[in-house]
Amino acid sequence: MMELKPLERLRFFSGRLLSADDLQQEQEYFLARLRRQNRFLHGWGVVSGLGVRLSGKDTLIIEPGLAIDCAGNEIVLSEKSELSLKGIAGKQHLILQYAEIHVSPTPSFSDSLDSSATEFSRVRESTQVELAAVDPSPNHRGMGRGTPGCGQPHALCLATISKQGSRWRVAVPRRSQPGV
Ligand SMILES: [Zn+2]
Repeated sequence: MMELKPLERLRFFSGRLLSADDLQQEQEYFLARLRRQNRFLHGWGVVSGLGVRLSGKDTLIIEPGLAIDCAGNEIVLSEKSELSLKGIAGKQHLILQYAEIHVSPTPSFSDSLDSSATEFSRVRESTQVELAAVDPSPNHRGMGRGTPGCGQPHALCLATISKQGSRWRVAVPRRSQPGV
């Protein structure tokens, strides 16, 4: 299986010179192992929570929870989220997407002693919740816990909503439910 390529980790010894690239590789090794374990041991899909329901006439509520995407990233929604459906028409997919945001700018002295140069010093792991016209995983049949997915970090479809008359109907795909 192409995806199960061997990993490489750092080896330390006294007198070794450490670069930013080395320290990045140190993180990447453990992230790669965790993502591989998430995919092949647990599988992609919703792990817990992330229930979707309507509140009132045109507000969608998404409960907090945890999911795993096809690349093994953990998608965490730590607080209840709300989406307004005002002005939305037709069939829509409620999607969750793992996202990394660079934060905490700090002085960088890599090229000179000019302290005005900055680099982001941290990566915040976050989750985007939005509506999309297209299902990001339309061919993912039989997926769920215990299946590794396609390996790509695309969004996960939590529910499909469609307007019938003046009322919205919420349908949760069977494949995104825990244990399916
Ligand atoms: Zn996939």
